[in-house]
Amino acid sequence: MKTIWFGDREVPVLGQGTWYMGEKPQKRAAEIAALRRGVELGLTVIDTAEMYGSGRSESLVGEAIRGIREQIYLVSKVLPSNASAEGVVRSCEASLRRLGTDALDLYLLHWRGRYALADTLAGFERLREQGKIRDWGVSNFDVDDMEELLALPSGGACVANQVLYNPENRGIEFDLLPWCQQQRIGVMAYSPVGQGGELLQSAALRKVAQKHGVTPAQVALAWCLRQSLQAIPKAGSVAHVEENAAAAELKLDDDDLRTIDGAFAPPKKKMRLAML
Ligand code: NDP
Repeated sequence: MKTIWFGDREVPVLGQGTWYMGEKPQKRAAEIAALRRGVELGLTVIDTAEMYGSGRSESLVGEAIRGIREQIYLVSKVLPSNASAEGVVRSCEASLRRLGTDALDLYLLHWRGRYALADTLAGFERLREQGKIRDWGVSNFDVDDMEELLALPSGGACVANQVLYNPENRGIEFDLLPWCQQQRIGVMAYSPVGQGGELLQSAALRKVAQKHGVTPAQVALAWCLRQSLQAIPKAGSVAHVEENAAAAELKLDDDDLRTIDGAFAPPKKKMRLAML
């Protein structure tokens, strides 16, 4: 599988999301099996957050990665309401307990809130010194937020920005994506298959899927991965994760891209960063 760099760590371009996992007891076994199968297939980046199910997603991830922690690039996020210097440390320690691990590979500020960025960064830097996180980053930051961040004394240590990206939400192509690439900040694309909703019914995606003998979800993922970024689809079943992993091998040609552009026009001007 292709890789990209988050700081000095090389990571696969396909990872696994976990929003809504761990919420339904009857789905638990299938979700754990999906995550473990994903790891076997090389989707070793697992993304979670303290927000997801108020910690239930992290607990499920902790169970899924037991015994295979060293293979995983583990990402979690702090809520803006907990993102003071002390709050970040407390939240991270609680996440580590739920995840059953000593350290996160990457810790993100979920979105900007009321605390000054400098305050949050002080927490991140303390966690790095304590070895509780390897690296830190942000999520839902537009170019102006990123510029403000990088102007701070330790802002340059940011390794990734996790943002919404799929054919229906491609505003980042205009400015944020090239900006991050120029600054060597990794971009993580969330909701890459449009949360399994209307996007997968679109005539354009279905047409391209039919041509290649694949599914619309695989087309959506291959479309994201034509850019230099990482996509983190969430799959609650082994069948979906196997399908998603196979999308890493799918190459879309110029005709396919034109078909998708026809239905989902590329941005011609600055669009405010959309978020879920
Ligand atoms: P996704 O675009 O990953 O869509 C997930 C949905 O699509 C699920 O309902 C899933 O169903 C379905 N799906 C997955 N694979 C397939 C497939 N091959 N065929 C058909 N349906 C499929 O949306 P998410 O919002 O979950 O985004 C991915 C991850 O990004 C999140 O889980 C989370 O980790 C992160 N995220 C971060 C945000 C942030 O603010 N930083 C915001 C939103 C997401 P099923 O479960 O049945 O497999």
